[in-house]
Amino acid sequence: MVVSLEKRGEIAVISVNNPPVNALSHGVRDGILTHIQACDADEAVKAIVIACEGRTFIAGADIKEFGAPPKAPHLPDVVQGIEDVSKPVVAAIHGTALGGGLEVALSCHYRVALTSAKIGLPEVKLGILPGAGGTQRFPRIAGVENALDAIISGRHVKAAEAAKWGVIDQLVEDNVLDAAIAMATAKIAEGPRRTGEMEIDSSVYDQSFFDGFRKSIARKTRGYFAPERCIRCIEAAVVLPLKEGLQRERELFMECMQNPQARALQHMFFADRQVSRIPGIDKTTPRREIKKVGIIGAGTMGGGIAMNFANAGIPVTLLEVQQDALDRGLGVVRKNYDRTAAKGKLTTEAVEARMALFNGTLDYADLSDCDLIIEAVFETMEIKKKVFSSLDAVAKEGAILATNTSYLNVDEIAAITKRPADVLGLHFFSPANVMRLLEIVRAEKTDPAVLATCVDLAKKIGKVGVVAGVCHGFIGNRMLGHYFREASLSVIEGALPEEVDAAMFDFGMPMGPMTVSDMAGLDIGYLNRKGMDRADYETSATDWMDRVVEMDRKGLKVGAGIYDYDEGSRTPKPSATVMAIIEEESAKLGIAREGKTAEEIVERCVLALVNEGAKILGEGMAYRASDIDVVYANGYGFPPYRGGPMHYADHLGLKNVYEKVCGFAEKYGKRWWKPAPLLKELAESGKSFAEYDRENAK
Ligand code: NAD
Repeated sequence: MVVSLEKRGEIAVISVNNPPVNALSHGVRDGILTHIQACDADEAVKAIVIACEGRTFIAGADIKEFGAPPKAPHLPDVVQGIEDVSKPVVAAIHGTALGGGLEVALSCHYRVALTSAKIGLPEVKLGILPGAGGTQRFPRIAGVENALDAIISGRHVKAAEAAKWGVIDQLVEDNVLDAAIAMATAKIAEGPRRTGEMEIDSSVYDQSFFDGFRKSIARKTRGYFAPERCIRCIEAAVVLPLKEGLQRERELFMECMQNPQARALQHMFFADRQVSRIPGIDKTTPRREIKKVGIIGAGTMGGGIAMNFANAGIPVTLLEVQQDALDRGLGVVRKNYDRTAAKGKLTTEAVEARMALFNGTLDYADLSDCDLIIEAVFETMEIKKKVFSSLDAVAKEGAILATNTSYLNVDEIAAITKRPADVLGLHFFSPANVMRLLEIVRAEKTDPAVLATCVDLAKKIGKVGVVAGVCHGFIGNRMLGHYFREASLSVIEGALPEEVDAAMFDFGMPMGPMTVSDMAGLDIGYLNRKGMDRADYETSATDWMDRVVEMDRKGLKVGAGIYDYDEGSRTPKPSATVMAIIEEESAKLGIAREGKTAEEIVERCVLALVNEGAKILGEGMAYRASDIDVVYANGYGFPPYRGGPMHYADHLGLKNVYEKVCGFAEKYGKRWWKPAPLLKELAESGKSFAEYDRENAK
């Protein structure tokens, strides 16, 4: 029995017991409704408590039922059934009351919670809205501002804050069930207090109030469908009686459900949880203990990487070649912490405590007691090999040796040591203390214990760790090159740089590719190309950029790149100088420049990602398409509401995508556009990347 009933004198206690999180499965919904109706009819029962066993109150819908046809009783009916009861109903909350769980609690007449409890309506994160009265009852009890805050952010609200809002009537340190029974007893005389019957003062919350709120969240929610629907629900709650408000909520809920964003965001939710499932690794795989970490190189990446470990309370030794580089690196770390402290997000004591975990050295011998050592020195094979040879000589037995290389062959680096099984890639993203993504590069000989340890460690330091195979650029950067190539080709063929940027920005990227290039510095790619054979890249995409760099326009850092920048400004302005170069280069290539639609630009840039993603997947360099989506959403700003490039391709239909790629291959005649064999195979068999993932998971 997932829901049971116990009578304690005049009080009936309805208990949910559906581990692990008491999710609102069909059995739970049915059990609650059946018992609540029975209690309402039972004259011996004077008041009711709804409580949960195990570690939490009801923490949301049952994700196992996602996508299946809904089965009665539906949650809105259960919730209404609770609110309509003729005797007081009290919710006893511990752990988290989330989503549908909070909607159940809101339909109870009173709420008692442990001080450690949290509440929240996170539906917006899944592209939907609280559709069982949450948008109507929450503003009635908590006030419109608090409801907007909670429902639009989807954040967890601590019980103390929820109590201030009026959502929790009583906070207790322990024995929440006893407190709820006591409250139920005390409320018998008073009777029910129905949230749905409360009214909101509509004179305060007029059009201008909501318009102001919309403006305040516009940047954060750009492109997202559900937040606006949440606001419309709350607007309805202000002016409509409960019944009509609920109807409006239902309509807007259905709009969200039918929007592709709901599927995309739910895909991302599951994709995030899949990444740590790795073939050949399970709970029984041994792990190594990581108590101390060494970092080699305290440049852009090294310092940020080190901060992750210090933040998790793990001591770090930073090694540099020269004292001034070490001082500079440690100085940047301190400045970062000080900045966080200035924003009030860290106390000065905490800053000192974290800095105390740092140790600087110029001597490799000081790394001999480290359990994990991450190399983040210059990106050349020669230097990396030197560093790994030195490491091999000093690192203790069983230490994990990692490289933060962006492109170099990890197998080759591992082979220079006498312990290739202990070597892997840990590819952090810049800024390493901020970006959530970590590519964990499994080399040919990497020991499963080493991999398992790093997968766990990623979680410990708050990263989403995605396993990639050894190939040039791993998952993310390998795909990125194709994206930039198409963006740049669009320019040389006739689009203006700002048009390419606008197209990708409107698609949902945080910044267009030209702005990103200026920010990263155009000289990086330039230097990289100088070391390559011209046959290995698309020169028509890069020659104009080379000329831009050669004019000393290296990007934002020097105040000029693809765009002009006013002194001290980061706002890109179209550059006549660069346009002249682009036009000359187009002419040199015999290209008759012609305008491009935003749709065309997006199609080329995004399908270039998809085609390369399919190659990566087909080669086994990523375990699943959804891992690629996680990489792109967390490391490259691909809009989560589009579900990552591979999910987006599924949304377009792989047959369509394949035909488009074939069309590009024919039109441009370039080997870059050769369709990925896996894309062809899936398109021809009418399958999607999601189906490929499911079949491979068996
Ligand atoms: P950086 O030039 O900012 O820093 C490299 C540091 O390594 C310098 O401080 C240098 O003094 C030090 N160093 C050089 N040789 C050394 C040696 N033999 N022993 C000890 N220290 C040495 O470079 P970065 O941007 O931090 O990149 C480091 C690595 O991280 C590269 O492999 C790069 O490809 C990779 N990476 C960079 C980024 C990025 O955005 N910058 C992102 C991901 C990965």
